[in-house]
Amino acid sequence: MIRIEFLGTGTSHGVPVIGCHCPVCSSSDPHDKRWRSSIWISKGDTSVVIDTGYEFRLQALRSGLDRLDAVLYTHQHSDHLMGLDDLRVFTDENKLPVYGFASVLSSIENIFPYAFKEMPYKGVPRLEKRVVEEHSRFRIGELEFQAVPLMHGCMRIAGYKFGSAAYFTDVSDILYEENKEYLSGIRTLIIGGLRDKPHWSHFSFQQAVDNAKRIGAEKVYFTHINHSAFHHDIDTRFSPYAHPAYDKLVLEVDDE
Ligand SMILES: [Zn+2]
Ligand SMILES: [Zn+2]
Ligand SMILES: [Zn+2]
Repeated sequence: MIRIEFLGTGTSHGVPVIGCHCPVCSSSDPHDKRWRSSIWISKGDTSVVIDTGYEFRLQALRSGLDRLDAVLYTHQHSDHLMGLDDLRVFTDENKLPVYGFASVLSSIENIFPYAFKEMPYKGVPRLEKRVVEEHSRFRIGELEFQAVPLMHGCMRIAGYKFGSAAYFTDVSDILYEENKEYLSGIRTLIIGGLRDKPHWSHFSFQQAVDNAKRIGAEKVYFTHINHSAFHHDIDTRFSPYAHPAYDKLVLEVDDE
């Protein structure tokens, strides 16, 4: 069994949005509070996070994340990256490996050069780049991952398959032709679903559902959700096939 905990399920602004007084941003339902999107995946002693947004420290404290073997990055947008500095608590003795496509890791190094220097100032995160090729498989402790290229607007970013699940956030095209032999076996799909209206670099809820069906996923969870819809309403409309994920939701998925 692989455990997945959603550390955050919101779009880049988070929900509530600063200064917004719309009904969703004003909602008292805790499911309508969406911190920046990230998941924590664990199996046995192995603990991996995908993306480290602005709230990474708060998310780690809220969820009791106290061990980390690696971070996987989907892409270098700020809402997936800017919590990186707080990785330093996990890098006292050893460097922490960070995985991603070459272009993503070089952008991250440009933004946080001090985290990758050989003789860093004491107290900075000490990270080691692990470049992932498209479609390559790699193992971190008890977990095996496979990188799946996806389009996010005009950017080529990484989705990750692991066990019987996959995490495809910030996606606007699944690239079926290139990925067709790699999309089978995804039973639980976590997929970016921004809102109802189409967006040039994110799937809408309906597009996310249509693509999940095309992949053959059995269960679907939306993430990277904005402030235009209540959790409860999205759930009512798309269940039982798809559900909006929410912060601190825990799933258990099979290894195969
Ligand atoms: Zn994003
Ligand atoms: Zn709002
Ligand atoms: Zn993005």
